[in-house]
Amino acid sequence: MVRHRKIQSPYGIDEWGAGYFAMGSGGHLHVCPYCDRRSVDLVKVVRMAAREGLTPPLLLRFPQILQTQLRELYRSFDRAREEFGYRPSYRSLFPLKVNPLRPVVDALIEAGRPGAFGLEVGSKAELAIALSRELPEDSWICINGFKDGSMARLAAQATGKNTPIVLVIERLREVDLVIREARRQGRAPLLGLRCRLYQRGSGRWEASGGETAKFGLGSSELLYAVDALREAGILGQLRVLHYHIGSQITSVRRITDAVKEAARIYAKLRQRGAPLSTLNVGGGLGIDYDGSNTPSDSSVNYSLQEFANNVVYTVKEVCDEEEVPLPDLVSESGRALTAYHSLLVTNCESRESEAPVAYPPEEESGKADDDLPSQIKEMASIASEISVKNFREYYHDAIVTRGEILNLFGLGYLSLERKARAEQEFYRVCKKALDYARQTGYVSDEFRVLEKTFRAKYVTNFSVFHSVPDAWAIEQLFPVVPIHRLDEPASEQGILVDLTCDSDGVIDSFVDVRDVKEGLELHATRPGHPYLLAICLLGAYQDVMGDHHNLFGRPAEISVTYHKKGPRLESISRGESNEQLAGLAGYAPEELKTGFARLVGKSRRGAGVVQRVIRTFDDFCQRGPYLEGRREEFKDIR
Ligand code: PLP
Repeated sequence: MVRHRKIQSPYGIDEWGAGYFAMGSGGHLHVCPYCDRRSVDLVKVVRMAAREGLTPPLLLRFPQILQTQLRELYRSFDRAREEFGYRPSYRSLFPLKVNPLRPVVDALIEAGRPGAFGLEVGSKAELAIALSRELPEDSWICINGFKDGSMARLAAQATGKNTPIVLVIERLREVDLVIREARRQGRAPLLGLRCRLYQRGSGRWEASGGETAKFGLGSSELLYAVDALREAGILGQLRVLHYHIGSQITSVRRITDAVKEAARIYAKLRQRGAPLSTLNVGGGLGIDYDGSNTPSDSSVNYSLQEFANNVVYTVKEVCDEEEVPLPDLVSESGRALTAYHSLLVTNCESRESEAPVAYPPEEESGKADDDLPSQIKEMASIASEISVKNFREYYHDAIVTRGEILNLFGLGYLSLERKARAEQEFYRVCKKALDYARQTGYVSDEFRVLEKTFRAKYVTNFSVFHSVPDAWAIEQLFPVVPIHRLDEPASEQGILVDLTCDSDGVIDSFVDVRDVKEGLELHATRPGHPYLLAICLLGAYQDVMGDHHNLFGRPAEISVTYHKKGPRLESISRGESNEQLAGLAGYAPEELKTGFARLVGKSRRGAGVVQRVIRTFDDFCQRGPYLEGRREEFKDIR
């Protein structure tokens, strides 16, 4: 056990960390899988990984966090049901689309309560996975999404006492599909109806709900479906009313409004004789990625407990009023269960700043100043004389002068050396102007542009497109924090630049409780000492949505568990090799080898040399796509 310090740092760890992150001794970032003082030092994990031959980037999973989150969800509904005297049960279904990876699903299954767990699937492959798992007793498998005859057939045949399968009808044509298969098979799975609510979610996924939503049955379609099932003699299989109004619902008000509308539909259908006994409130339970506890896109203005209280209280209120029996409750929270459990530890390969290299070297500069063009002399004198009193005016003068200098260069009147000299002087002007603007306490828009320009670029060993795809695709914010040196003031404002040859491959917006930060407080890098960052809260959706742009792929992955005697590294995977990545584009390993051998063969070098070059190529193909650090440096990292 480690004494954790309350963090006074610019990273907001206590705000977004939900108790899973803390600063331990030596300024290291710790992960606390049980939200208490039991913790894992991430620097220690990097050292242990280096001894196993693995260097960053490393995707670290904490299965104990998944289990803590699931238990907390159960406990929240236990407390809510007790508080409001709600007798029927609660069940948590894990939607595989959020993260179908085996270590994730296995950890959740292990913590699932008998009679209160299940898997939600939205595709054929997900259905195959769900049907192959050994689930806690009386778990459900719930089928959502687009369906064809093969899914309906399998659902009808595979459903049984030990494997209740609920097929959720989401479109009218699925009513006919289900009836047809039931007639063919002489049996039907349990059935659900997904309703399309008028209420929408809030935040980025707002369009998933409402009257124009892609899925769900409107009022008349619900009535038609119930009548059709009754006529076909399988209405008795109908158990569940389901809805889902989108992921990451940021405002608790939207949750309450949706539950209210769905509970009313449930009650009205019950009153018409539909044998519904369960209300499934779908997913959407959000995560406070930026720690602001507000309904902004990367946050939520409610807690897990408030979510459970709202669902339980609202359903009870509506059903009591309508005098129908209270339903069992189901939720399909995926993001809330998984987001915290994984993070990417990666190293900054270098730090690049906008400052031009001093050329000519300083001791020589000034020698030939007398014959400098007047515009460059002017720029140099602005750079010397700019002050807090005149910085705005002088900065504007410098911009005009720079235009003149660029014109001179364009017309061929200026050497490259002199243009370089002018750029250095202009840089001095900008730097000073920005400092003075900051001193005044208000940085206006024109100087904010400079602030952005001067952010240091930390070349970081990862691919945004593979590991943090939502940062690129939907500008989702993910917390980034150094895993060491947290007790040292950070001297730089930086952004992360990834390894892809794509100018979109950057993370340049960062979480902040009041706003979105355009630069992150980072430390100066030191040669020979890796600088390690964690990109956190990657456990939901990122694992499956990442792509292979530029043929960067899976980095090494490790499941890390807390034990009294120290962390254990399990399920180690070394990541995708260059050979495997080339294979994704249709180049078989043998083809790579023979093609290269042909190329070297043409070079007319001796047989020994050729063999050596081919071995180097083979070794290169087996390695991964990321920059290789020196293992020794990671073994000794502090
Ligand atoms: N259920 C359904 C039907 C979904 O489509 C989704 C995801 O969009 C989820 C559950 C999971 O949602 P979340 O991860 O927001 O809890």
